[in-house]
Amino acid sequence: MKYSKKELEPKFRQYYLDITERVASLSTCKRAQVGTVIVKDNKIISTGYNGSVRGTEHCTDVGCLMVDGHCMRCLHSEINAIAFAEKDDLKRATLFCTHKPCLSCFNLLAQVGITDVVYINDYGKHEGEVAEYYYKVKRARGINFHKGTTDYY
Ligand SMILES: [Zn+2]
Ligand SMILES: [Zn+2]
Repeated sequence: MKYSKKELEPKFRQYYLDITERVASLSTCKRAQVGTVIVKDNKIISTGYNGSVRGTEHCTDVGCLMVDGHCMRCLHSEINAIAFAEKDDLKRATLFCTHKPCLSCFNLLAQVGITDVVYINDYGKHEGEVAEYYYKVKRARGINFHKGTTDYY
């Protein structure tokens, strides 16, 4: 596989993945620390970590707001990174994340035109209908997933 995008070359991928871990360390959720870096034309256009709405209390101070095993106070890092990016920059951008995006974040990144996702850790199981859904949306929107510095699918 030959990548046309410089940010997808292994050494750059590692560099951006390293940054996602530094960004994740800023998270104020006690349940998980997740970081996102969005790159376009080998330039960082936005970063985000999972945390509460600006100006409101943090999980580190008041505990997580758990519903069905998920903390509902925290915006996911991908959502924060997308919210703080320039809308036009997101088209054909690459999203680096410490974790594989959940279905809601995946829907959003597909909607805004992000075309590559590079992540370190798997998150949740995607089987059956959900796996099929990911596949369909990836194909429809021309999205490629990459795990770590070498895997591609
Ligand atoms: Zn939390
Ligand atoms: Zn998510």
